[in-house]
Amino acid sequence: MSQAKPQKVKWVKPPKLGLLEQMYFPTVISGMATTLKHMVGTLTGTGDKNIQVQSYPEERPTLPPHYRGVHRLNRDPEGRVKCVACYMCSTACPAHCIDIVAAPSPWPDREKYPETFVIDELRCIYCGMCEQACPVDAIELTTIFDLTGMSREEMMFDKEKLLSVFDKTVAAGTDPVRTQPGRLGVASLPAGAGLTGSSSAQS
Ligand code: SF4
Ligand code: SF4
Repeated sequence: MSQAKPQKVKWVKPPKLGLLEQMYFPTVISGMATTLKHMVGTLTGTGDKNIQVQSYPEERPTLPPHYRGVHRLNRDPEGRVKCVACYMCSTACPAHCIDIVAAPSPWPDREKYPETFVIDELRCIYCGMCEQACPVDAIELTTIFDLTGMSREEMMFDKEKLLSVFDKTVAAGTDPVRTQPGRLGVASLPAGAGLTGSSSAQS
């Protein structure tokens, strides 16, 4: 068997940083100069016309309808979690940030339901694969983008928190179900059925 020729490797030495570079002074000054240039340009009307300035948070951005923000777990028309604990989303997730514990369903129309369902919102890369993989449209990414928290634990969204995102977005009318209702699972919405934001005793 012939052996592959060894590839020539070109080793590159990292440039040596002087004292000023190590203290980030040139970079900070260059950044400030860019900010100043844009500020003067905006105030005098001589700046780049393609640059748009938005005074966030006073001005909220208009997001495209396919924007992928914080997740929500959808409810079925009875207010129960739609998820049937099939693990399709966690299997598809490239960041391995969905953790589900399945249990026998307390309802007769499905075998399983998620006893616990946790998404690590800090580990998520908001690719939408979970949404694509779900056979019953139970998980969706919403237009909520300004997610903040004071601790890592706070950013672990459990089932109740994910359901509360559903309630909040349905009440606000910002995030209708964007995937088409299918007939793949019992928890899918029948065609034309409305959403409910009400919560049930057990979800
Ligand atoms: S959006 Fe992507 S990375 Fe985030 S939970 Fe879904 S599949 Fe995983
Ligand atoms: S793919 Fe949908 S039904 Fe399956 S575990 Fe994930 S959210 Fe639940």
